[in-house]
Amino acid sequence: MSQPTASRAKRIGALLFCPACGTLLDLPRDDQDEIECSQCGRKEPAASYENLPTKTYSSANAFPSALKAKRALVQNTVEEGEAAKDRDPIANERCDNCGHIGMSYKEMQLRSADEGSTIFYKCLNCGHQTSTNN
Ligand SMILES: [Zn+2]
Ligand SMILES: [Zn+2]
Repeated sequence: MSQPTASRAKRIGALLFCPACGTLLDLPRDDQDEIECSQCGRKEPAASYENLPTKTYSSANAFPSALKAKRALVQNTVEEGEAAKDRDPIANERCDNCGHIGMSYKEMQLRSADEGSTIFYKCLNCGHQTSTNN
Protein backbone atom coordinates (compact mmCIF):
# COMPACT_ATOMS: atom_id res chain seq x y z
CA MET A 1 0.00 0.00 0.00
CA SER A 2 1.26 3.43 -0.85
CA GLN A 3 1.02 6.29 1.57
CA PRO A 4 -2.22 8.18 0.89
CA THR A 5 -0.57 11.48 1.73
CA ALA A 6 2.35 10.89 -0.64
CA SER A 7 0.34 9.91 -3.69
CA ARG A 8 -1.18 12.52 -5.86
CA ALA A 9 -4.04 12.49 -8.28
CA LYS A 10 -3.30 10.94 -11.63
CA ARG A 11 -3.26 13.50 -14.34
CA ILE A 12 -4.41 12.94 -17.89
CA GLY A 13 -4.32 16.15 -19.86
CA ALA A 14 -6.32 18.65 -17.84
CA LEU A 15 -8.19 15.96 -15.90
CA LEU A 16 -7.31 14.61 -12.50
CA PHE A 17 -8.26 11.18 -11.27
CA CYS A 18 -8.46 9.82 -7.75
CA PRO A 19 -5.24 7.84 -7.09
CA ALA A 20 -7.17 5.45 -4.85
CA CYS A 21 -10.16 4.49 -6.99
CA GLY A 22 -9.59 6.17 -10.35
CA THR A 23 -12.69 8.35 -10.26
CA LEU A 24 -12.55 11.60 -12.16
CA LEU A 25 -12.19 14.36 -9.61
CA ASP A 26 -14.05 17.64 -9.71
CA LEU A 27 -12.12 20.84 -10.08
CA PRO A 28 -11.68 22.70 -6.81
CA ARG A 29 -13.56 25.90 -6.25
CA ASP A 30 -11.51 28.94 -5.41
CA ASP A 31 -12.34 28.58 -1.71
CA GLN A 32 -11.43 24.89 -1.55
CA ASP A 33 -7.99 23.67 -0.62
CA GLU A 34 -8.83 20.03 -1.10
CA ILE A 35 -11.22 17.97 -3.19
CA GLU A 36 -13.05 14.97 -1.85
CA CYS A 37 -13.42 11.98 -4.16
CA SER A 38 -17.11 11.35 -4.75
CA GLN A 39 -16.53 7.58 -4.81
CA CYS A 40 -14.15 6.75 -2.00
CA GLY A 41 -14.01 10.01 -0.05
CA ARG A 42 -10.27 10.37 -0.40
CA LYS A 43 -9.18 13.96 -0.11
CA GLU A 44 -6.90 15.33 -2.78
CA PRO A 45 -5.01 18.57 -2.05
CA ALA A 46 -6.09 21.37 -4.36
CA ALA A 47 -2.39 22.02 -4.94
CA SER A 48 -2.48 19.07 -7.31
CA TYR A 49 -4.51 21.24 -9.62
CA GLU A 50 -1.93 23.94 -9.86
CA ASN A 51 -0.50 24.41 -13.33
CA LEU A 52 -3.49 22.72 -14.90
CA PRO A 53 -4.75 24.63 -17.91
CA THR A 54 -8.33 24.35 -16.64
CA LYS A 55 -7.41 26.43 -13.62
CA THR A 56 -7.28 29.52 -15.82
CA TYR A 57 -10.85 29.03 -17.04
CA SER A 58 -11.97 31.07 -14.07
CA SER A 59 -9.99 34.10 -15.19
CA ALA A 60 -11.77 35.19 -18.36
CA ASN A 61 -10.40 33.61 -21.55
CA ALA A 62 -6.80 33.60 -20.46
CA PHE A 63 -6.23 30.02 -21.52
CA PRO A 64 -7.29 30.12 -25.19
CA SER A 65 -5.48 33.37 -25.92
CA ALA A 66 -2.35 32.24 -24.14
CA LEU A 67 -2.36 29.05 -26.18
CA LYS A 68 -2.89 31.01 -29.37
CA ALA A 69 0.00 33.30 -28.51
CA LYS A 70 2.19 30.31 -27.81
CA ARG A 71 1.32 28.74 -31.15
CA ALA A 72 2.02 32.00 -32.98
CA LEU A 73 5.35 32.21 -31.23
CA VAL A 74 6.31 28.69 -32.29
CA GLN A 75 5.26 29.38 -35.87
CA ASN A 76 7.22 32.61 -36.04
CA THR A 77 10.30 30.91 -34.69
CA VAL A 78 10.09 28.19 -37.33
CA GLU A 79 9.50 30.66 -40.15
CA GLU A 80 12.35 32.89 -39.07
CA GLY A 81 14.63 29.90 -38.79
CA GLU A 82 13.84 28.71 -42.31
CA ALA A 83 14.12 32.14 -43.85
CA ALA A 84 17.48 32.73 -42.21
CA LYS A 85 18.84 29.58 -43.82
CA ASP A 86 18.15 30.88 -47.33
CA ARG A 87 19.23 34.40 -46.61
CA ASP A 88 22.99 34.59 -46.36
CA PRO A 89 24.42 38.10 -46.22
CA ILE A 90 25.10 39.72 -49.58
CA ALA A 91 28.48 41.18 -50.46
CA ASN A 92 29.18 43.71 -53.21
CA GLU A 93 31.53 41.28 -54.87
CA ARG A 94 31.74 40.90 -58.63
CA CYS A 95 31.23 37.43 -60.01
CA ASP A 96 34.27 36.51 -62.12
CA ASN A 97 32.11 34.18 -64.15
CA CYS A 98 29.21 36.38 -65.28
CA GLY A 99 30.20 39.82 -63.97
CA HIS A 100 27.14 40.13 -61.77
CA ILE A 101 27.70 42.22 -58.67
CA GLY A 102 26.13 40.83 -55.55
CA MET A 103 27.19 37.55 -54.08
CA SER A 104 25.93 35.87 -50.98
CA TYR A 105 28.67 34.85 -48.66
CA LYS A 106 29.41 32.63 -45.71
CA GLU A 107 32.35 32.96 -43.46
CA MET A 108 33.75 29.70 -42.21
CA GLN A 109 36.54 28.86 -39.85
CA LEU A 110 38.20 25.95 -41.58
CA ARG A 111 41.64 26.16 -40.13
CA SER A 112 42.86 26.86 -36.64
CA ALA A 113 41.38 29.89 -34.93
CA ASP A 114 44.49 32.07 -35.18
CA GLU A 115 44.78 31.62 -38.93
CA GLY A 116 41.68 33.52 -39.97
CA SER A 117 38.67 32.27 -41.79
CA THR A 118 37.60 31.49 -45.33
CA ILE A 119 34.78 33.37 -47.00
CA PHE A 120 32.71 31.51 -49.54
CA TYR A 121 30.91 33.59 -52.16
CA LYS A 122 28.07 32.44 -54.31
CA CYS A 123 26.87 34.45 -57.28
CA LEU A 124 23.20 35.36 -57.00
CA ASN A 125 22.93 35.40 -60.78
CA CYS A 126 24.67 32.29 -62.06
CA GLY A 127 25.47 30.38 -58.90
CA HIS A 128 29.21 30.48 -59.49
CA GLN A 129 31.08 29.87 -56.28
CA THR A 130 34.41 31.17 -55.16
CA SER A 131 36.22 31.52 -51.89
CA THR A 132 38.81 33.77 -50.41
CA ASN A 133 40.98 33.45 -47.36
CA ASN A 134 40.86 36.17 -44.79
ZN1 LIG B 1 -11.52 7.79 -5.01
ZN1 LIG C 1 27.80 34.90 -61.75
